Amino acid sequence: MGQAMKDTFFQDEIDDLKKRGLYRELRTVEGEQDSSVVINGKRVLMFSSNNYLGLANHPVLKKASMDAASRYGTGSGGSRLISGNMEVHRTLEKELALFKRTEGALLFSSGYHANVGTISAFAGEGDELNHASIVDGCRLSKGEVRVYKHADMNSLEEILRRSSMSKKRLIVTDSVFSMDGDIAPLPDIVDLAEKYSALVMVDDAHGTGVLGKKGKGAVEHFGLEGRVDIQMGTLGKALGSFGAYIAGSEELIHYLVNKARSLLYTTALPPSVCGSALAALKILGERPELVSQLRNNAAYFREGMRGLGYLIPEGETPILPLILGDPSMTMDMTRSLFDEGIYVQGIRSPTVPDGTSRLRITLMATHTVEQLDFGLRAFEKIGKEWIL
Ligand SMILES: *Cc1c(COP(=O)(O)O)cnc(C)c1O
Repeated sequence: MGQAMKDTFFQDEIDDLKKRGLYRELRTVEGEQDSSVVINGKRVLMFSSNNYLGLANHPVLKKASMDAASRYGTGSGGSRLISGNMEVHRTLEKELALFKRTEGALLFSSGYHANVGTISAFAGEGDELNHASIVDGCRLSKGEVRVYKHADMNSLEEILRRSSMSKKRLIVTDSVFSMDGDIAPLPDIVDLAEKYSALVMVDDAHGTGVLGKKGKGAVEHFGLEGRVDIQMGTLGKALGSFGAYIAGSEELIHYLVNKARSLLYTTALPPSVCGSALAALKILGERPELVSQLRNNAAYFREGMRGLGYLIPEGETPILPLILGDPSMTMDMTRSLFDEGIYVQGIRSPTVPDGTSRLRITLMATHTVEQLDFGLRAFEKIGKEWIL
């Protein structure tokens, strides 16, 4: 590129994004994550967080995090395979395996790392609405990647039938789809996988702490214990900490320790993060009512929104998509809601398909009835101006 083009490259790209209504800016939360937060000096109700159980500022997690730092220090100093594998990682992995009722669990630095590292160690077939980290894992995989239509079992079976010559096959799906809030038809996927001898991997980023009576995720929700080969879950969403894990058989864990490049070539999680994750698992074990509280809040808000005339699909998860289509209108609505005192982030392409820009409303177990009603009133007011 010439000098003139070089000078304006970034600005031209930015201007283009702005023209298309797709320009993004970072917003800063001042203070801690809670069911209400301060943004730009204004206190607003949080309806856009994956901190579903409200654990991210829980005093017990804070203390556990500090205790782990005092005991083990602030950094791990190396990757798991070199020098960074610490006692606290092993303790957390043991607890995660107990929680998931699997033989083993393996920590990764994040859900992104877990997906990219695990999937690229296989070949795969995936749902078309899968999370970006699954897509990137497929891109890095040396295997052939086929994509089936969203939640369409005929499409999946067709692909399985046509790839019957392949030696190993892996079906990858989100359990709860992060931007739509629907749940994958996991029992049907598992049936097909068994019929065609394929492995199944479930990304439970939005299922962990959310699905199942005890918040153990999609496998508990559907009663599929022992039939899902690879379960990925994150510690940074409902569990209020950071990082992720793969749960499954001992052999799977040994395989990934050898093959997952995103485990091998990155620094292990710091002890403080493991400390808070351990505390979160303990709280979840002792207080399963947090999970039902989340479910009740989601049902209340969903009914409220539908009662106001909003086209929110029925569902069982705390993710409520309000699909508006146009990206600029979506962002205008985000701003109006902010003025009314609630924070709901607009989601646009490429996070969701073009033409399906939406508000992604998420509920928390810690929202009070007053907060939920305040949120509904804001939507009622905005709706009169915007859509209804
Ligand atoms: C958030 C998310 C991830 C990534 O997890 P991080 O720990 O945030 O990197 C992976 N898959 C899905 C479905 C997610 O929503």
